[in-house]
Amino acid sequence: MDLQLKDKVAVITGGSVGIGLAVAEGLAAEGVHLALCARNEERVQERAHEIADQHGVRAIGVQADVTDASAIDAFVAKVQQEFGGADILINNAGTGSEEKIMDASDDRWQHYWDLHLMAAVRLSRLIAPMMKQRGGGVILNNASICATQPLYYEPIYNVTKAALVMFSKCLAAEMIGDNIRVNAVNPGLVMTPDWQKTAKILTEGTETTWEQYLDKIAKDNAPIGRFAEPSEIADLFVFLCSPRASYCVGSTYYIDGGWLNVTT
Ligand code: NDP
Repeated sequence: MDLQLKDKVAVITGGSVGIGLAVAEGLAAEGVHLALCARNEERVQERAHEIADQHGVRAIGVQADVTDASAIDAFVAKVQQEFGGADILINNAGTGSEEKIMDASDDRWQHYWDLHLMAAVRLSRLIAPMMKQRGGGVILNNASICATQPLYYEPIYNVTKAALVMFSKCLAAEMIGDNIRVNAVNPGLVMTPDWQKTAKILTEGTETTWEQYLDKIAKDNAPIGRFAEPSEIADLFVFLCSPRASYCVGSTYYIDGGWLNVTT
């Protein structure tokens, strides 16, 4: 299938590792030029250079903390300067939380609200007009299965990801008249370095290996019995970015190995 993405420009938050990096690689393989951002400047620049070399596209890696509105402004200014606009926006940067609602401070709520919701609001507000000028575009918000099916230990994550899904739906209705398609993706368990790091910490000094620990999580939760590789999630993102997904508007796509609504 020709995905008709060659020479488009994509902005990806959190494009230096995990799902965001896999989406960057998947889009670059289709000939898409990239603007990646993350907080760790060295890592995001290295990944951008590697992708550019490997796929023959233009790619920049920019240091930006998306919880900071002024950093978002500066990032988008660089995108404008380097590429003259963008056709695709992937709001991906995010991370899990762990707290009890009764103990969590306002600051903690605000941080995750800014990270998961306001970053997407601010970037969409800045980049959608560029897309409109170019005849249309695609905005994908990487939420989580937890937007619908909460994990008990991370209420702030669940709530802010649910807000991101509703934001997607509302923005989709507002933008489709300008030929900008907005959708959300809700992944389940995806094997990223962060999961591995946590598993290593939790199993240190025990008889369980970190691999066994993660395997049990997958078998206990997802009927498919394993984590997804980031590239399996990225393939769905790449398709949704393509004009071949022209009727995909305002939806939330689960990609979770059958986890949703299954209790064991
Ligand atoms: P990783 O921790 O592997 O990568 C997160 C990326 O986001 C990194 O590039 C990181 O770079 C960047 N990032 C984090 N915070 C910020 C910030 N404040 N500003 C800019 N960049 C930031 O995450 P995953 O790939 O696992 O997750 C990506 C998204 O997918 C997240 O939104 C997550 O909630 C969602 N998701 C993940 C699942 C999973 O099982 N892995 C399941 C469901 C959803 P740096 O640290 O340098 O800033």
